[in-house]
Amino acid sequence: MKVRTRYAPSPTGYQHIGGIRTAIFAYLFAKKQNGDFILRIEDTDQKRYQEGAEQYIIDSLNWLGILPNEGVGFGGDFGPYRQSDRKEIYQKHVQQLVDNGHTYYAFDTPEELTAMRDRLSAAKSSIQQYNAVTRGDMRNSLTMSEEEVKAELDKGTPYVIRIKLPENKTIVVQDAIHGEVSFNTNQMDDKVMMKGDGLPTYHLANVVDDHTMEITHVIRGDEWMSSTPLHVHLYRCFGWEDTMPVFAHLPLMLNPDGKGKLSKRKADQYGFPVFPLQYLNDEEKLSDGFKELGFLPEAFVNFLIFQGWNPGTEQEMFSMDEMIQTFSLDRVTKAGTKFDFKKAQWFNGEHLRAMDTDKLTELVWACKPDDVNCDEKQLPQLVGMMKERMIFAKDFWLQADYLFNLPKEYDAKTVRKKWNDDNKPHLKSLQDQLLALENFNAEQIETTIKSFIESNELSFGDILLPLRIMLTGVKGGPSVFDIAEILGKEEVENRLNTAASIFDEMNAAV
Ligand code: GLU
Repeated sequence: MKVRTRYAPSPTGYQHIGGIRTAIFAYLFAKKQNGDFILRIEDTDQKRYQEGAEQYIIDSLNWLGILPNEGVGFGGDFGPYRQSDRKEIYQKHVQQLVDNGHTYYAFDTPEELTAMRDRLSAAKSSIQQYNAVTRGDMRNSLTMSEEEVKAELDKGTPYVIRIKLPENKTIVVQDAIHGEVSFNTNQMDDKVMMKGDGLPTYHLANVVDDHTMEITHVIRGDEWMSSTPLHVHLYRCFGWEDTMPVFAHLPLMLNPDGKGKLSKRKADQYGFPVFPLQYLNDEEKLSDGFKELGFLPEAFVNFLIFQGWNPGTEQEMFSMDEMIQTFSLDRVTKAGTKFDFKKAQWFNGEHLRAMDTDKLTELVWACKPDDVNCDEKQLPQLVGMMKERMIFAKDFWLQADYLFNLPKEYDAKTVRKKWNDDNKPHLKSLQDQLLALENFNAEQIETTIKSFIESNELSFGDILLPLRIMLTGVKGGPSVFDIAEILGKEEVENRLNTAASIFDEMNAAV
C-alpha cells in the first residue's frame, strides 16, 4: 500500500513553527517511502477561522520546499482538501453512525452542561465528563422517549450529536513513538460529532478525512494523543479497523528554559519569532519571521528535524535528500526538546558555508544596502573571504563594511598597547616597503611583512595586529594580506596614514 501522510493544520492564525515541524516529519516520512504528502485544511471551527491563515500555511511550505503532492493549493484526486468544502461527506458519515446506534442526540443547554460539571466537581467525582457514567442524568435521546426526542427536533430545539462511548472499556492506542497507550472510556468524553448547524467537529471530520483520503500514517503533535482513543473507537464504529492508520505523536517543542510548550510570549522575551514568515505583531506592525531574518529554508528544516529526532550518529548537517534518506519514526524521541535559537543560527551559518560561492554571492548581492559601493564582479572573492564568519547572507555587509568604507572606529585598547614609540617607527618603515611593492598582491604583501618581522626580530603580534586594526578597525577577520590586496595600494596608504594620525590623537588624549 502506498504510504500517505498528511499535515492537517487549522487556519486559526499564523502557522506556529511547531506545526511546521510536524509537516516536515510527515513529509520526510512519506518521501522516504516514495509516498505522498497531503495538505488538508481543517477549518471546522468557524469561530476561530482567520482570513489569510490558509495562504500563510501554503506560503510557508512553499518557502521551505516541503511541497505537498496533494492538498489545498496543490490539487489531487482525493479532494476537496478543505473541510468546509466537505460537509456532505460528513453528513453522510454521521448518518451512518446514527443509524448504527453509535451516537445519540443531546439537547442540553450550555447552562445545563455547566450545572452538571459543578455538581460533579462539588461531589469531588473523578469523572466529570459527559459519558456513560453521567449521561443518564442529562437531556438526551438515551434518557428521553422517542416521542420527546421527535418533539424537540420538530420544535427546532438546538441539539448536538454525541458519540456513545461504552462504559468502563479500555481502548489501546498503538503509537509508533510511545508504544501501547491505554485509556479507559470512563475518563473520556462522549464528544460531539456534529453540531446543530450541520457542521462536524474536528474529531469526526479528522477521522472521516484520514480514512477517505487513504492516510496510512497520522503524524501529529503530542497534544492530540488524548483524542486518539476516540479516533480509534470511531474507526471501529465505521467498520474501518482494518485500514486504521498508524499513529505517531511527536514530542512538544519546548521553551528555551524547558518550561512548557514553545510559546510566542516566551519567544518574544528571548528575542526570536515562532513563525516561519513575517507576521503582524501585537502593535499591528510587521515583524520578521525566520525567512525575513535570513534563514535558508534547508538550514531551517535541518534545524527543525532535530526538534524531537536524532539520527543516532554525530552527523548534524543534512541536505534535504539526506534528511529523506535518514529520517525514521523510530528515532523520534518521547520527550520534548528545548528550543535553541543559537543552534538554529549555527545551522544557518553551516549551510551558508556549504553553499556554492556563486549561489551565496547571489544571496549576498540581493541584500546589498543601497549606499554601499561594491563591484559585483569582485563580490564572489569577497564573499569567499568573509563567509567563515557569516550566519546570514546580510551579515556580509556589516562584517565587510571596512572593505568599502573607512573604519568608523578603532579597537582602542589594542591600539594603545601597540602604538608606542618603539613600534611606531617599525610600522612606518614597513608601510614604506609595502607601498614600494610593484605587484601589490596578497602573496607579495605576505612575504614582505614576514621577512620584515624576521629581520627586525619582531613578533607577529607587534606588526600584524596593529596593521589589521589600522586597515579595518577591528581585531578579527580574514587574512590581513588578502584584505590589503583587495583594498589596493592607494587605499592602504590612505588608511595607514589616517589611522596613524587618529592613533596619535587617541594616545595623546589618555
Ligand atoms: N487540525 C489539527 C491541528 O490544527 C490537526 C490534528 C491532526 O493532525 O490530527 O493541529
